Amino acid sequence: MHVRPKKSLGQHFLTDGNIARKIVSAIPAEPKTLLEIGPGTGMLTKIILESNIFEPVFIETDLESVEFLSANFPGIEEKIMHGDFLRIDLKSFIPDHYQIVGNLPYNISSQIFFRMLEDRDRLHSAVVMIQKEVAERISSGPGNKTYGILSVLLQTWFDIDYLFTVSEKVFHPQPKVKSAVIKLSRNRVMDIGCDPVFYFKLVKTAFNQRRKTLRNALKPLLSEKDTSAITDVLSKRAEQLSIQEFISLAKYLENQKSTIVN
Ligand code: SAH
Repeated sequence: MHVRPKKSLGQHFLTDGNIARKIVSAIPAEPKTLLEIGPGTGMLTKIILESNIFEPVFIETDLESVEFLSANFPGIEEKIMHGDFLRIDLKSFIPDHYQIVGNLPYNISSQIFFRMLEDRDRLHSAVVMIQKEVAERISSGPGNKTYGILSVLLQTWFDIDYLFTVSEKVFHPQPKVKSAVIKLSRNRVMDIGCDPVFYFKLVKTAFNQRRKTLRNALKPLLSEKDTSAITDVLSKRAEQLSIQEFISLAKYLENQKSTIVN
């Protein structure tokens, strides 16, 4: 039995056991519950199961891969869900705190990161392979052209480590881009001091027109607000603001809002 790679599902199967071992050895030992996203033909799965360290569960959207894994890894049927990571009810599938590992489908990696952000209070860490360019974006800091929405949001709640770059040659079929493995570790931030929904909106709005000053890019969020105390910040562009400055700006604007309403 053999799985026919499907481009629409972002299937690029890893063929190099050493890289698979390096990925799995980067996963912290706790918590034991480990979700592998998109196990595919099982290159990572095999090492996870052999290591005997974790209590793994799997989600795979491709039925052919699910059947292949079931035929090759006895007992995996009870741990694997045939479904879409972007749509499943994560809390009922995984009731505990957990970690994530995966050679992700690159076409939906941003959406996967937004899901991780939503579930940030149960997700301890994630070791994932993604497109190198996306890995660089996520790990970059202010002042950098690649610093963007996902860099700010992920770095607000996770420490990001760029672990290593991976050549396109170790996949079947080979992708057109280079890959990289990054590790996200939940930091200690529980409460950023303002409504996270507003914070998300602020960061997205700021970067949607990243060439403009914040005063212009954030126009829809500034109306009827006294911005006299934040003139300096508003004269900058989104890519110049650190995480702390984004948080402070969100707090400031949120307080302004309540002053006017009351
Ligand atoms: N981990 C495997 C496969 C990586 S390719 C390896 O390293 O070889 C990406 C995998 O994600 C494929 O198996 C694909 O079928 C699966 N996938 C794609 N979209 C998915 C989704 N929305 N939810 C879960 N799995 C998905």
